[in-house]
Amino acid sequence: MSKQDALPISISGLTKSYGSLFALDHVDLEVKSGEFLTLLGPSGSGKTTLLMALAGFTRPDHGSIRFGDEEIVTMPPHKRGVGMVFQNYALFPHMSVAANVAYPLKLRKVPKAEAAGLVERALETVQLGGYGERRIGQLSGGQKQRVALARAIVFSPRILLMDEPLSALDKNLREQMQIELRHLHEKLGMTTVYVTHDQREALTMSDRIAVINHGRLMQLDAPRRIYERPANRFIAEFIGESTFLKLERKGGRLNFAGVELEVDEVPEGRNLSLVVRPERLTILDGTDAGKTNIFPGTVKDLVYQGDTTLAYVTLADGTDIAVRAGMRSEAAIEKVKVGERVALGLKSADVVLIPDEER
Ligand code: ADP
Ligand code: MG
Repeated sequence: MSKQDALPISISGLTKSYGSLFALDHVDLEVKSGEFLTLLGPSGSGKTTLLMALAGFTRPDHGSIRFGDEEIVTMPPHKRGVGMVFQNYALFPHMSVAANVAYPLKLRKVPKAEAAGLVERALETVQLGGYGERRIGQLSGGQKQRVALARAIVFSPRILLMDEPLSALDKNLREQMQIELRHLHEKLGMTTVYVTHDQREALTMSDRIAVINHGRLMQLDAPRRIYERPANRFIAEFIGESTFLKLERKGGRLNFAGVELEVDEVPEGRNLSLVVRPERLTILDGTDAGKTNIFPGTVKDLVYQGDTTLAYVTLADGTDIAVRAGMRSEAAIEKVKVGERVALGLKSADVVLIPDEER
């Protein structure tokens, strides 16, 4: 398996409805050759439907899917050259590890001797070398997950699809497997479409993230851009913590509660809200200057959380806003008291504006 074998995926106008519900609503999406792309969205947003359409287990109503130059939307699953890891592993419990991993090779009529070598190599790749004779029932959750992965990659697919493969594992193992899957991806280089509802997992693993909601693609960007420049309120709320401050326009400038905003550029058109992440705010101690927005407020609550301290500050218009400071910071957050008047600083470079939406 070399990187040249990976294929780009081109999805256009993909639509699937169940009765009046659009599980997929005209999805256009390009996955680059060799890319690790994550579909991120809440439960019921259409992630599995999209993955199943790629794998060939769900037939869309409209639209096109191309692997490279080839239209595959009506092609049966086993001809698509796609490896798939299902959410519940879907292993055969009565069969040995080796027989499970060999299953796709059997379907493809690979001769037994050759298959045995491929199975052992796939098991070694997922660090289960020598486990071939074990029964599925004897394995831990993490080991089952590795078997499912070995089965997905054993025939060197051009494209790897994974549907919430780590969701059944506990937090420590899940975080370890995230890094491991990422390394495996770098080694094998397959075009990978990964599904999760866990925003941190998506940020950790992906080259790019496609955020979906109600069957629609909301934003497609690198993790850092998704987090730092969310395109709308849904994304800003779903990924990380945010407070939204409704802005007023006055003569080409933007205002919040009488404070004129320092913005690099004021967009035209609609009403806007300012998106503020807790870790982008600082409690000013009087020495800060330059292009910083300053919001006065009163400390309402202080919450010690071990690695960080969180302060809730009530702003002039009554909005409570969260301010987070890391453990090692020399920040004024360590010194303030509940009830104290403070000034919060937000650098103009950290100003993120989104269109207002009726909620
Ligand atoms: P996700 O994987 O993001 O949780 P799904 O793709 O499984 O979401 O589902 C998207 C929407 O389509 C949900 O509202 C779900 O209830 C609906 N849905 C999925 N499969 C079917 C089906 N076979 N019949 C009816 N509704 C379905
Ligand atoms: Mg799902």
